[in-house]
Amino acid sequence: MTRLLSLGVALACAGPLLAQTPAPEKTIPWGQYSSEILTRYRDLVELDTTAGHEIRAVDYLRKVLEGEGIPTKTLALEPNRPNLVARLKGNGSKRPLLILAHTDVVGVQREKWPVDPFAAVMRDGYIWGRGSKDDKPVLTANLITMLMLKRRAVALDRDVIFLAESGEEADTTGVGINFMVGQHFDEIEAEFAMTEGGGATIVGQRVSIVNIGTAEKLPARARLVATGTSGHGSVPRLDNALIHLSTAVEKVGQWETPMHFNDTTRAYFEKLTTIASPEKAAHYKELFNPTSAGAAQEYLRKYDPSRYSMLRTSVVPTMLKAGVGANVIPSEAEATLDIRAFPGEDIEKFYAEMAKVIADPEVRIVPIPPSRPPSPASRLDTEMYRVMDRVAKEIYPGAVVLPSMSTGASDQAQLRAKGIQSYGVGPASTEEDAINYPAHGDVERLAESSLYPFVQYVWDVVTGVAARR
Ligand SMILES: [Zn+2]
Repeated sequence: MTRLLSLGVALACAGPLLAQTPAPEKTIPWGQYSSEILTRYRDLVELDTTAGHEIRAVDYLRKVLEGEGIPTKTLALEPNRPNLVARLKGNGSKRPLLILAHTDVVGVQREKWPVDPFAAVMRDGYIWGRGSKDDKPVLTANLITMLMLKRRAVALDRDVIFLAESGEEADTTGVGINFMVGQHFDEIEAEFAMTEGGGATIVGQRVSIVNIGTAEKLPARARLVATGTSGHGSVPRLDNALIHLSTAVEKVGQWETPMHFNDTTRAYFEKLTTIASPEKAAHYKELFNPTSAGAAQEYLRKYDPSRYSMLRTSVVPTMLKAGVGANVIPSEAEATLDIRAFPGEDIEKFYAEMAKVIADPEVRIVPIPPSRPPSPASRLDTEMYRVMDRVAKEIYPGAVVLPSMSTGASDQAQLRAKGIQSYGVGPASTEEDAINYPAHGDVERLAESSLYPFVQYVWDVVTGVAARR
């Protein structure tokens, strides 16, 4: 009896006691860290890390990480374009988590900028600068996460690996993810990865949609090459290569390629029907109805082209090359097609279908070797996705969380191709800001108020997946 009674007392105490000592990852007074977050972020945005200068970011990151006792490794194919890896060890009961971000930024046309693009100028509540969206928020969030894990000595069930990679934007020589996957995969091998490729949309004063990137299309570009008889411009010929080429370009440009769904896009469009305007929601619903899907696609093609692209392998003519003079019929003319394959598309079969659409023996399809491997979509039934979904709803109350497929390509392709379940994140912005000040745009900026919740989001996901349970 006494024993039971004392046990009862002990149990009664356990609740409040546990509540008073939550895990170290749960008690961060984030407000006290805003100035550190902002400083580190601005430090990184101030570095001009256009292709060939990634070493500037690596030097900075190495100093900061090593300064706090986190060992780093620098792995480089080209001395000025190194990658940096840091690993915090877990107890090994689960496989590692890789958090990565690229250090390079695309170039700038200085005359288009109202401010110095490498000064991280703060104006009107925004931080302005190249890389302010792509990809220095993720780089900063990953860095802060590593520092906090170390400072608070968070016990880990899995290793957390930090990777700052070069050459994401322009990797003609394979210095970044290709080098890491090809030569140093043991340094980054993981069960899960998190990096750029997602985002969140602010409507009014709050975040209403959070996108978790789970899939992407595969660039599978091709050239159309038409041949004919060359000759004098004064003599019309039926086998003029330009005529054949332009007819072929028109046919593939108009071609409605077959519609597909995968788990990600099905979940995406289903959830979209619950939050879109009634007019748009009706169109999204029709996509699932075989008798009205055609009309719905026509609507998307006209008014919602990025979502139209999410439903198929897309074919977009982007370049034409022909001719040397106004009075010369060239014997060859060519067009470049930016083809973005739906994950899992059998591209050889697709080219064969395209040849049938063109139906002209004078026009050949010449595939351009792909720069990335085909990659399957990441799963939605993993611990990582569940944690991301939960954390997104905690950080952005009331937001709808959507798995999403990028129509572009990213370094996640190489990771997914190696079997890593990889997920994309990104800070929130309004739709107007995403249009007017986008990644790669003439001018790029991020709202300061989007930075802090994003860092917290990354932290909560990393600790949710990796901290000891
Ligand atoms: Zn990027």
